[in-house]
Amino acid sequence: MTVPPRPDADPPVRPRDDLALMEGYHSPQVDVAVRLNTNEAPEPPPAGFGQRLAVALASLDWHRYPDRAYRSLRQAVADHHGVDPAQVFAANGSNEVLQTLCLAYGGPGRTAAVFEPTYVLHSHIARVTGTGVAMGERGPDFSLDLDEVRRVLAASEPTITFLCSPNNPTGMVERPEVVRQVVAEAPGLVVVDEAYGQFARWSALELVSEDRPLVVTRTFSKTWSMAAARLGYLVGPRWLVAELDKVALPYHLDAVKQLAGTVALDFHDEMRARVAALVEERGRVAAALADLPVDVWPSGANFVLFRPRERDGSEVWKALLDRSVLVRNCASWPRLEGCLRVTIGTRPEDDAFLAALGEILRPGSR
Ligand code: PMP
Repeated sequence: MTVPPRPDADPPVRPRDDLALMEGYHSPQVDVAVRLNTNEAPEPPPAGFGQRLAVALASLDWHRYPDRAYRSLRQAVADHHGVDPAQVFAANGSNEVLQTLCLAYGGPGRTAAVFEPTYVLHSHIARVTGTGVAMGERGPDFSLDLDEVRRVLAASEPTITFLCSPNNPTGMVERPEVVRQVVAEAPGLVVVDEAYGQFARWSALELVSEDRPLVVTRTFSKTWSMAAARLGYLVGPRWLVAELDKVALPYHLDAVKQLAGTVALDFHDEMRARVAALVEERGRVAAALADLPVDVWPSGANFVLFRPRERDGSEVWKALLDRSVLVRNCASWPRLEGCLRVTIGTRPEDDAFLAALGEILRPGSR
């Protein structure tokens, strides 16, 4: 039996007042020939990954709960970064890592600081967990401005300060000295979201230590070609990981995902080669964009932010979609008026995008 929706009726039970006022996360999933809107890897994992995983899955104890402490995965991530397994916390995508951080260190009466424009889920997850949000602004070139950071830290005393490097959606890599300074001055925890960290030259991982309230989050969704698996993690001090372990639901990482993550890390050489190829392809796409009537921002990630100079961003986004090319429409986001973000895909996908964009922006092509 289907129950007809009751869009106009008052629901019998209401969520928290603050949730009722919130909007959900919008990123359209539509069938197109060229999908360059969510910064995934353009190719599936290496063939050997699937074969190794299939063998491992054949002896999985389906009737048993998975290893609650995900020891093999933790060890593999720790080995990958040269840290102790007790410094690693993993969850279902780095979004869930961020949520667990907010549950443990945010909550009612506490505040998280963000510097816009940045990854929208930082403030969204903070709000969903009842954490207040203090918003600062990035400078005109979207870099962090230390005076503005100090103003926000002093005004709101945040228990969590979110940084994002490379920043989504602008692509900018934070300068090491700025991150160091924020960590030195922040009154609470500093989270450096490095979902795109492998594409950048510098990582805040080198700053992680037991006496600094700093964590660095990473994901398997981009470089590791495993967005479908939903797996992310952080590296941080042991005392912090111990608190997160209390907050995570028991057995939150299923056995298949634990195996997939562990096996994936054995293919690090292939992944490094793919990152290098994507970085080169990013240079090619950015150079081609520079020949079109668009403003382009330098990127240290696997995407590029650009703004058509003479045409409305949303109109261009729609015209790309009409040509079966999907990019991210940031045109209505604060500070990003008219901007679009394109993920670096395979060479043919990027060529299709560039050809479509060139056609749309050609004088008189309206
Ligand atoms: N952080 C940033 C900056 C992102 O762009 C994304 C994905 N869009 C995530 C975290 C979340 O990644 P996931 O949950 O897939 O690990």
